[in-house]
Amino acid sequence: MATARPRVGILAVQGDVEAHARSLERLGALVTRVLRDKDLDAIDALILPGGESTTIAKGLQRLGLYEPLEAFARAGRPVLGTCAGAVLLAREVENDPVRSLGVLDVVAIRNAYGTQVDSFATRAEECASKLEGLHCVFIRAPRLRDPGPDVEVLARVEGWPVLVGQGNVLASTFHPELTDDDRIHQLLLDLTREAQKP
Ligand code: GLN
Repeated sequence: MATARPRVGILAVQGDVEAHARSLERLGALVTRVLRDKDLDAIDALILPGGESTTIAKGLQRLGLYEPLEAFARAGRPVLGTCAGAVLLAREVENDPVRSLGVLDVVAIRNAYGTQVDSFATRAEECASKLEGLHCVFIRAPRLRDPGPDVEVLARVEGWPVLVGQGNVLASTFHPELTDDDRIHQLLLDLTREAQKP
């Protein structure tokens, strides 16, 4: 029997939706855009893309998506948040806080690299073994601090967690969709396959 292609939704309120779609399509996923709570019924996993978290948060409020997205994550379905998306997953947000879903046990500090180094790219340190040499592109990125006991730090830069996982939730403070390295998206698809095992 052919394995069904994973169906991955990308929250399409604002931000870097198309680049995520290209990465997912390279990996054979079926991609849909999520703008209504009923869109969540037709997907196996979800990406909250980078962009501007104040704008995305306003959209979530307007569309009534906070509760459905939180329920999606709490039901154990895989979610990846990148940059602003990571901010929206956090238990707490600092530095111009926005309402977050609170499904990832970290504190997100928005725009933590300041205006001097708004954007930069570097190799991650202390990567999990299958992520060796991870190239990280940061754009007005947050920092994550105080990860709780269930949070696994999968990569760091300058000692700070830049990729973390907590069960079905993954978050990166960098933009994996802006490189042709699809390993972060593959992690999401691996979680999706795991979640579908009987
Ligand atoms: N600085 C942005 C915010 O907090 C996030 C930047 C990004 O997603 N590239 O909304």
